Amino acid sequence: MHRKPIRHCRECGTAVVYRLPDDGDTKERAVCPSCVTIHYENPLNVVGTVPYFDDRVLLCKRNIEPRWGKWTLPAGFMELGETTAAGAARETVEEAGAQFELEDLFSLINVPVVGQVHLFYRARLTSEQFDPGSETLEARLFHEDEIPWDEIAFQTVKQTLQRYFADRQSGQFRFHTIDLV
Ligand code: ZN
Repeated sequence: MHRKPIRHCRECGTAVVYRLPDDGDTKERAVCPSCVTIHYENPLNVVGTVPYFDDRVLLCKRNIEPRWGKWTLPAGFMELGETTAAGAARETVEEAGAQFELEDLFSLINVPVVGQVHLFYRARLTSEQFDPGSETLEARLFHEDEIPWDEIAFQTVKQTLQRYFADRQSGQFRFHTIDLV
């Protein structure tokens, strides 16, 4: 999902133009021709978890676009004022209604084509009961051989799940940095 270009100045509402600012900057920015505010656009963080219970992993079936009806790990855009860990925990509560203890950061995935960085923490589930929110059709645990690999909503989720099960097999969880280009 590419972000839409900025159309109007956040300060005064005038239609912006994309051009090189006058300060020697080498990238085109949305510049307001009226008040000369420069609007910088930077990558957004998506934060989530790999919630697990013994040898199974929790997936959520999406009740929202994009990828309605596909399976995902609980994840969403980080909010201002929260840490990455707090955001990952919040999304896991909102989307799955899960009870868990947050563990180490597991994967960091750069997705420069959409201007996003995705971060997934491992989360040890303390209950097999889930109470999914309105963004989720169904939340359930999957063994590795039950994972619907062709029905996974996002590459970032697929790559994280593949590494999670590989690490689980090897008996040691590592931190993974992945560039999706
Ligand atoms: Zn302006």
